[in-house]
Amino acid sequence: ASAQIGVTGLAVMGRNLARNLARNGYTVAVHNRTPARTKALVEEFGHEGAFVPAGTPQEFVAALERPRRLLVMVKAGAATDEVIEEFAALLEPGDMIVDGGNAHFADTRRRERALRERGIHFVGSGVSGGEEGALNGPSIMPGGSAESYRVLGPMLERISAHVDGEPCCTHIGTDGAGHFVKMVHNGIEYADMQLISEAYHLLREVGGHSPAEIAGIFRGWNGGRLESYLIGITAEVLAHTDAATGEPFVDIVRDAAEQKGTGRWTVQSALDLGSPVTAIAQAAFARVASARTELRDAYRPLAARRADVVPHELGHSVLDIEKALYASKVIAYDQGWTMIRDAAAEYGWDIDLGAVARIWRGGCIIRAAFLDRIRAAHAAEPGLVGLLAEERFAAEIADALPSWRSVVATATLRGVPVPAFSAALAHYDTLRSERLPAALIQGQRDFFGAHTYRRTDRDGSYHTRWAEPGRPEVRTDTGA
Ligand code: NDP
Repeated sequence: ASAQIGVTGLAVMGRNLARNLARNGYTVAVHNRTPARTKALVEEFGHEGAFVPAGTPQEFVAALERPRRLLVMVKAGAATDEVIEEFAALLEPGDMIVDGGNAHFADTRRRERALRERGIHFVGSGVSGGEEGALNGPSIMPGGSAESYRVLGPMLERISAHVDGEPCCTHIGTDGAGHFVKMVHNGIEYADMQLISEAYHLLREVGGHSPAEIAGIFRGWNGGRLESYLIGITAEVLAHTDAATGEPFVDIVRDAAEQKGTGRWTVQSALDLGSPVTAIAQAAFARVASARTELRDAYRPLAARRADVVPHELGHSVLDIEKALYASKVIAYDQGWTMIRDAAAEYGWDIDLGAVARIWRGGCIIRAAFLDRIRAAHAAEPGLVGLLAEERFAAEIADALPSWRSVVATATLRGVPVPAFSAALAHYDTLRSERLPAALIQGQRDFFGAHTYRRTDRDGSYHTRWAEPGRPEVRTDTGA
């Protein structure tokens, strides 16, 4: 046994963390379910440091010094459980398993408890910084026992990023604390990306600037108090031109933002905890909304016209407020029905959406005449995607729109919080938008995490090799 640490799971993140460990002088045992990845790592990067390739879990574990330190970088979820179980069976009390994947903190707590009973230290650790960070220094958020940190801490601190000589790694707390903090980090990341994308959208749609000009504006901002990685990569994504069409890259990316779930988890946990993380929640929902093709298709005919995007005058009369309230209420109910439809599809429930409205017309707290309109809309058109796809509701909202905007604008100018009015209005504007800045989010995700994007002009998944000269594009779903 000669390796101070082992890494199993050698996709982008695991491979780069293994290289980072080796470059820092550690002897690293490397293993992957599919041995080709292990072989490729050693062939391509073997010269960077001391690697001990292992073909089987047994060889892998035998290569590790005691107490064994094993870093798992496999796909989050069931795969993590399988891999932990497979290796735990080969370990001894005092050994340590670090899960550096994006696990849900509740799973980490469960795994930590189960392994503790077997004498094995389980360290759920958040790792942030994407592919590039994993190689050159990520931010590391380990949980688990204080005892395990005494052994692992120095290694993790050494390979982490450093700022002013301080490592970007500390023991966050016991059991799932590390993964919880990583989850919140990702929630904040969602909000930051959404806010940057909204700023871009405003500069483009209201300011009339081109993507190249906005790239320049972001570069300028990156020299001031907004300086950050996300602002920097946003400038690069916006400045990039698509080689195939000569169009700005951001215009050829489908504006349906994807996610791997950590933002969603943050919002779910926040509801459980009673934490009002509204900006994060809006960002998570904005991604979700951008990808709801059927809702956007149904509402696109309501696309913004000049006449209804410019408020005639700022107003806040009783009539304006009544219209704003009515329009927001239609949106809120519509969101509720979308959720019921989603749950029916997810759990295989045969729910009659009109009947739900019918039975709520009396007896319950939200009983209202309005519900009969919803019942009638669903009865008239089974499979109705959303209320605003129905002509009468659409006409009512069109009529209310100038008042609705005026009320939200007045409230904003006067510092009166109207979170629900403004969120409902943004939802309406989101779903009827021709293009959403979700395309820029897809560009940001592809830049830092190789998460791929879809193009507006052809099928397939694509990745731009941002770090390579000329930024070549590769198709990822066919291996081409
Ligand atoms: P992926 O999430 O794409 O996972 C692929 C790896 O998991 C491969 O090594 C694969 O092995 C292995 N794997 C999948 N299922 C199993 C299984 N049942 N048994 C054994 N091995 C399995 O890789 P990434 O490198 O992108 O991410 C690794 C982890 O890091 C994930 O949990 C991810 O959420 C997290 N993470 C990712 C970031 C990113 O920017 N990409 C950033 C921070 C964290 P095989 O080669 O045999 O298929």
